[in-house]
Amino acid sequence: MQSVILSCGDELTSGATLDTNSAWLSQHLADRGIEVLRHETVGDSEELIAESISRATGVAELLIITGGLGPTRDDLTRQALARAMGATLEEDPQSLQQIATWFTARDRVMTASNRMQALVPKGASAIENHCGTAPGLSAIVGRCQVYVLPGPPHEMIDMFTRSVCPHLATAGLIARRVIHTFGAGESHIGEVLGDLMARGRNPRVGTTASGGLVSVRILAHGGRTEVAQALADADEQEVRTRLGDLVFGGDDETMALVLGRQLQAARQSVAVAESCTGGMIGEMLTAIAGSSEYFLGGVVAYANQAKTELLGVSKELLAAHGAVSEPVAQAMAEGARTRFRSDWALSVTGIAGPGGGSADKPVGLVYIGLAGPDGYSMVHKSSFPGSRQQIRLRAALAAMNHLRLAMKKS
Ligand code: ATP
Ligand code: MG
Repeated sequence: MQSVILSCGDELTSGATLDTNSAWLSQHLADRGIEVLRHETVGDSEELIAESISRATGVAELLIITGGLGPTRDDLTRQALARAMGATLEEDPQSLQQIATWFTARDRVMTASNRMQALVPKGASAIENHCGTAPGLSAIVGRCQVYVLPGPPHEMIDMFTRSVCPHLATAGLIARRVIHTFGAGESHIGEVLGDLMARGRNPRVGTTASGGLVSVRILAHGGRTEVAQALADADEQEVRTRLGDLVFGGDDETMALVLGRQLQAARQSVAVAESCTGGMIGEMLTAIAGSSEYFLGGVVAYANQAKTELLGVSKELLAAHGAVSEPVAQAMAEGARTRFRSDWALSVTGIAGPGGGSADKPVGLVYIGLAGPDGYSMVHKSSFPGSRQQIRLRAALAAMNHLRLAMKKS
């Protein structure tokens, strides 16, 4: 199915308001396997909007219009739709009733211009607005389904989700999967999955990099839901097999959630000693409900003095190797494990930048320590790219990932 998105309003063409509606709609249509051919933005002109509607309905099976449904004189989308349909506008009694109710419920007076919002082109139907006054519109123009939604983003999103989505879902039977990976770049994943990502293939497989992770998206189409599900399942299996340990979860699963589940299943606990991540790991772990079962606590040991006094890292070690070093990362993890009496302890010490780097210790250098049962002690050296915040985020995720992998092996 092919679609066009049309946004209306002088505030958009003048640049006063950024058109976020089109971007949001595009993402949600793509999720449903609907191709977006074009975005178009038109000012408040009945003639230009009508012209765009006629053009779009000639090439697409779905047209979604946002904006220009309001009560003011510059809101002309319903008139433009009527013009494009060659239809007259008629008052819709049910819409009028809903608008009147909206005003009474808020103890406000309905003006004559609000009455205009109950006008519907003959042959079209109104869509109830649960967040505002302007009803939306639904019409068939030629072989194209047209929806007109309000401009304010929260109204648009609500109406799309309630009244448009259910119809789209039945039009194309699709199944979606998301698989999250950590530890490899998008290009590496792209190479490993190359043939699966070929254009025009069903399922469609793509990658997105965000928040330090690379996620693989699978979108399958089928004549029946079961067919789409089976195709998506097969691809998910294949992707998981090929990427192995790089995969840590899917859909809504976060690294902290997956690690927490592992700790819970093993009935083991963890503590953290964080320097450059400043508490991010503790924050992420405790964002998961029920984390008190396995997360004992953490120390943000930023200054050397804190590393010595709170974690027992010796002054000599710090003087000899510097705070960002393998022995210090190891001593921090072991110190945290002893003090918290946890099964596992993670430590992070690194140079988040932008300043403070040197030739042998550049910005992005991070040591992650991991202490565990039976004398397990390990330090991983990494070099993370990006801004201060990206380096800190990647370090926090990498630390949790090291524990996830260590627990899998033990
Ligand atoms: P209203 O009843 O509020 O007038 P409407 O359907 O007429 O609803 P518009 O007047 O076109 O909507 O837009 C109202 C407000 O919604 C705009 O001032 C703008 O802040 C926001 N808006 C409109 N279109 C978009 C868009 N494409 N992206 C983001 N925001 C938008
Ligand atoms: Mg308006």
